[in-house]
Amino acid sequence: MALGYIEIDEERCKSCGLCMNACPKKVIRFSKSFNSKGYHPAEFYDPEGNCIACGFCYMMCPDTAITVYRYEKVAANK
Ligand code: SF4
Ligand code: SF4
Repeated sequence: MALGYIEIDEERCKSCGLCMNACPKKVIRFSKSFNSKGYHPAEFYDPEGNCIACGFCYMMCPDTAITVYRYEKVAANK
């Protein structure tokens, strides 16, 4: 189960790929589409829910394009 997810501001992304190299779960890839500056922006792709919300992508991004969200457990029976 995913521990979190990220959002990428496509217009800020310059396609450097640092977030992809940093991601231990390899859940970021290049989009096939272009942003308005002509870059293929990074895209979060995590169909199996592998993101662990570690924040490495966020820390590596030189263009502050990434926001990390962590799911919070609010109740549990065990
Ligand atoms: S928070 Fe961690 S696991 Fe999730 S996309 Fe970023 S680097 Fe990958
Ligand atoms: S590190 Fe930032 S600028 Fe570089 S590809 Fe990832 S989101 Fe885009």
